[in-house]
Amino acid sequence: MAKKVIIVGGVGGGSTVASQIRRLDQDSEIILFDKGAHIAFSNCGMPYFIGETVKERDDLLRDTESFAKKYAIDVRINTEVIAIDRSNKTVTYKNGAGEKHEHYDTLILSPGASAFVPNISGRNENNSFTLRTIPDMDKINNFIKENHPRTCAIVGGGFVGLEMAENLKALDIDCTIIDRSKHVMKLVDKDMAAIIQEHMETKGIKLLLNESLEAFTDNGKMLQLSGNKNLQVDMTILAIGIKPNTELAEQAGLTVGKTGALVVNEYMQTLDKDIYALGDVAETTDLLSDKPSNVALAWPAHRQAYIIANHLAGNTIPYAGTLGSSIVKVFDLTVAITGHSSESLKEKGIPFQEVKHRALSNAGYFPGAEKISIKLLFHSGNGKILGAQIIGEKGVDKRLAVIATAIRGNLNVTDLAELELAYAPPYSSPKDPINIIGYKAESMVTENK
Ligand SMILES: Cc1cc2nc3c(=O)[nH]c(=O)nc-3n(C[C@H](O)[C@H](O)[C@H](O)COP(=O)(O)OP(=O)(O)OC[C@H]3O[C@@H](n4cnc5c(N)ncnc54)[C@H](O)[C@@H]3O)c2cc1C
Repeated sequence: MAKKVIIVGGVGGGSTVASQIRRLDQDSEIILFDKGAHIAFSNCGMPYFIGETVKERDDLLRDTESFAKKYAIDVRINTEVIAIDRSNKTVTYKNGAGEKHEHYDTLILSPGASAFVPNISGRNENNSFTLRTIPDMDKINNFIKENHPRTCAIVGGGFVGLEMAENLKALDIDCTIIDRSKHVMKLVDKDMAAIIQEHMETKGIKLLLNESLEAFTDNGKMLQLSGNKNLQVDMTILAIGIKPNTELAEQAGLTVGKTGALVVNEYMQTLDKDIYALGDVAETTDLLSDKPSNVALAWPAHRQAYIIANHLAGNTIPYAGTLGSSIVKVFDLTVAITGHSSESLKEKGIPFQEVKHRALSNAGYFPGAEKISIKLLFHSGNGKILGAQIIGEKGVDKRLAVIATAIRGNLNVTDLAELELAYAPPYSSPKDPINIIGYKAESMVTENK
């Protein structure tokens, strides 16, 4: 008899696992629930729609009917799954027509995460926003179109905060980023963050670091900050962080791990072998340290979807762990990261050394060469590459991709000197900056012996 697969959440992980399962299995009945009105939308593109780089809202959306038809999936939008009964293998869901139940053979949870909103007094939801969903994006966009704000406070200097600063500035809105850390982008080290900060300041973004938001007054337009400072703005974006949506699973007795996400095995199964979890809600392991890790990015969600679909089809491909490779555009800069920062290695007690190199993206005499800064962290005992941070205007993504591949292929830091990376003046130098990092590290590793 055909099996019934129920998927909760229909965006990054949910829609991907649905289509992957269908590719491998033509027979199962697949039901995809999402409490929102859209599935498979491009959340990563939302800041760029607000900033008008992406002109058409529809370009971020996927037509539900054509998705359902293409993959023969019963897609139920505006329908929230509110309970899981593991002993009877049913879910309870609710929509405009009330509450109903549905049986499952396999249940897959991809409910994502919610924007973390601290309990701060005086917040006015009409001028203070988070950005996770299409309705969130619409609210910000409508506010801007209707109220023509001139100033914005962005609380949180991570990926979303930095992307929003650039996109709001493109609309001529003056932005101030408030972050309680010493520097923006806590995934990079302080010295590398300084490059980002300097660039942002040249673009007119104000930074208030070591400051946190304590309260709102004046109908949400005055921010009271920790250092007795006040900031008057027309709007606020809260980009403080996210919290995995584990409530449904917790009520069903599934385990939440150290990171606050759902514990799964290498095949993405929770402690109940018929219930899988993936994406922002799942706790996997860190590829380098093997410690619990919850990385809320699109790549892990897509890879995990593949692992689950294959597992259901009888192909046991374990999830190897997450490296956390990420990339973000900050005005003219590209900031790319993989593996650990110095702080994260210190926290884990892993001994490391760093090698830095500042070079040009390609031959200096060739028009358009730009500076590129690379910082690489490696194990001081065995030379294993533990992390990289690369910042520049050109050629950053390919260098990051080389390092991420090198880590995945278990290359040592000195192996980087041996990589035969393609050269012609518009693209690189005969010794690519990645090779130079390898050469520099060679002398350090030799000194260690
Ligand atoms: C503004 C923004 C920019 C981003 N940019 C990038 C980027 O550049 N690169 C990158 O790698 N990642 C980026 N991400 C992160 C990436 O989008 C997520 O990691 C990915 O979407 C995770 O997929 P998911 O399935 O776990 O969660 P989501 O894609 O968030 O999907 C979860 C879905 O589950 C639904 N849901 C939740 N609970 C229920 C329930 N009980 N019943 C029914 N439905 C439910 C929600 O409505 C939601 O639609 C960005 C995210 C945001 C918000």
